[in-house]
Amino acid sequence: MEKLEHIGIAVKDIDKANTMFAQLLGRAHYKIEDVESEGVRTSFFELGGVKIELLEATRDDSPIAKFIEKRGEGIHHLAFQVEDIRQSIVECRQQGFQVLNEEPKKGADNKVICFLHPKSTAGVLIELCAESKG
Ligand code: ZN
Repeated sequence: MEKLEHIGIAVKDIDKANTMFAQLLGRAHYKIEDVESEGVRTSFFELGGVKIELLEATRDDSPIAKFIEKRGEGIHHLAFQVEDIRQSIVECRQQGFQVLNEEPKKGADNKVICFLHPKSTAGVLIELCAESKG
């Protein structure tokens, strides 16, 4: 793992959350991006090299809709940047972490991503992310 890349926060209303976080952080979000495959709309803030990713469900069957239904709004995942995501997936599996998607998938912000099941990581959903190369 190279660094904490971002913290993902599940929100019910991304416009409201954008306004609140802009106030809190003293800066506006720099991008909004839909990830169709995941059924989410994302918004990003940058602060001292770490990002905050707000996540709003765009469909009822979105993982974010399910998360909010079960647990309400709040911290959804921590994302760590890795150099080579395929290599990291192999290593995590070897170390006994439960990898949720063996094949890296396209995330927001020009990233390829993979999730580790919170059961194997102290209840915290972990995202591995790397710059998409193409
Ligand atoms: Zn994320």
